[in-house]
Amino acid sequence: MQVHTVGSGPPDVAVVGGVHGDEPCGVRAIERLLDADPDVERPAKLIVANERALERGVRYVDTDLNRTLPGDPESDLHEDRLAHELLAEVEGCTTLGIHSTVSYENPFASVAYLNERKREVAAHLPVDGVVDFTVVADGRSAELPGFVDIEAGRQGSDAAVDNAYDCLLAFLRTTGVLPSDPPDADPAFYEVTEPVYKDPGRTYRFLAENFERVDEGERFAVADGDPLVAEMSFWPVLMSDHGHDSLLGYRSIRRGPLSTLPVSGDGTESMANGATDG
Ligand SMILES: [Zn+2]
Repeated sequence: MQVHTVGSGPPDVAVVGGVHGDEPCGVRAIERLLDADPDVERPAKLIVANERALERGVRYVDTDLNRTLPGDPESDLHEDRLAHELLAEVEGCTTLGIHSTVSYENPFASVAYLNERKREVAAHLPVDGVVDFTVVADGRSAELPGFVDIEAGRQGSDAAVDNAYDCLLAFLRTTGVLPSDPPDADPAFYEVTEPVYKDPGRTYRFLAENFERVDEGERFAVADGDPLVAEMSFWPVLMSDHGHDSLLGYRSIRRGPLSTLPVSGDGTESMANGATDG
């Protein structure tokens, strides 16, 4: 793990790239910021998480770092130990994690257990939407009290690096690390209601658009030519033909602009309060 610090003093703002080794956009965005050597008004940590997986160009070496939080310092598995180290680095920090996807080309944010601190960060990100994954929470960084993740675009694309950098700048402005105001984006909030699994051995084709409403009765995918019809309306998230072996993607409900949502807590609660117990 690399930890770069900009500014002086102990940071309480952090950015994490390279959680997944086959998603280099966050690392490129961090390098771009370090190369630009900006004047900062407050210190921040810039973390390149999984160097071993990045070197190999694989999502992970032993186990998925973003499904293994809070990790285990005694584990035989590289990512279990790394998760423990990463958590220590971002403890108490308002943090942006940067990812990319095979399923969608525009940036969106992912959160769980939304609180005021996360809402403030997400509200100023230049993203298509903010997706709440609380219902499928399973040791993801987005479950931590001060952590917001973005999916910056297609894995390995130049556009994902540009999107990641734009989100990084917006985040550092929102948190007061960089001067000048962040964009007043107020993206829409989508609450994931359930995963949509694939039947093993069948070939799927997704027919709708992510973040665009699928109406009741609409054919949104085919499996070996058989239509999948929506029993009630929903908004697809991360749905794709080949994104995942066993998962087509997620159904969600669009709740409206982020600014209109009631949230509880300011995000200062600790891990001990169960933020990752789901
Ligand atoms: Zn990722």
